[in-house]
Amino acid sequence: MNERIIFLGTGNAAVTECYNTCFAIQRDKGYFLVDTGGGNGILTQLKRVEIPLSAVHDIFISHGHTDHLLGVIWLIRMIGSQIERGSYKGKLKIYATAELLQTIQKIAELTIQKKILKLFGQRICLKKIKDGQTKKIMDYQVTFFDIRSTKEPQLAFTIKLFNGKKLAFLGDEPYYRHEKRYVYKADWLLHEAFCLYDEREKFLPYEKSHVTVKEACENATALNVSNLVLYHTEDKNIKKRKALYGHEAKEYYDGNVFIPDDLEVLNL
Ligand SMILES: [Zn+2]
Repeated sequence: MNERIIFLGTGNAAVTECYNTCFAIQRDKGYFLVDTGGGNGILTQLKRVEIPLSAVHDIFISHGHTDHLLGVIWLIRMIGSQIERGSYKGKLKIYATAELLQTIQKIAELTIQKKILKLFGQRICLKKIKDGQTKKIMDYQVTFFDIRSTKEPQLAFTIKLFNGKKLAFLGDEPYYRHEKRYVYKADWLLHEAFCLYDEREKFLPYEKSHVTVKEACENATALNVSNLVLYHTEDKNIKKRKALYGHEAKEYYDGNVFIPDDLEVLNL
């Protein structure tokens, strides 16, 4: 089977018309989950795209904001119950910075039943990731790097796909120059785009460490990437988002632009 990316959510932190940005990279029957959105909506999204929890073994959380982190608590709870019942084989591995893993452990301790907490360290494994580290995840070599956010520590990554292509995930902040050695000439660039440039006064992206479609596309052009995915957007334009964002993107970038809806699947 081809390698695919399944978008579980495409919105920013405050959306109500779609789910928060998170996705799964699929290869055969394996799924690498990247972020989990802000709540138990992750369970609904996974169900809608027919990813069974028993197939989720690798989850990366980029940073500790609610819209990326809290869904994982639900996955721990539900997968933990399946482990208890004997219906989940193998381990659940959660990858994040050491600090963020401590946060996850703490929230779990405060909110999840003891019988599931007992699985930590045995069937539910917290895997520390450092800046610049390459980790083997699902037979992929994934290289993580610190985006040097001024808000909360945040890790991005590049992944070498089995089809030879390189995919770069930049988290929920724009491209920063120090990331060039990881991202330059990527085949796929996943870049946040908070809103249209024309609507920057309405949505105020820059004060939240976000940018508009225009700057995301300018970055993609400068980085010589072939395919650009724009997500982590506002939801006031959700019904016309593809057309509006796509139109603005064309002015600043010549490559292929994808503005996925929730649950949309792209072949990589
Ligand atoms: Zn976010």
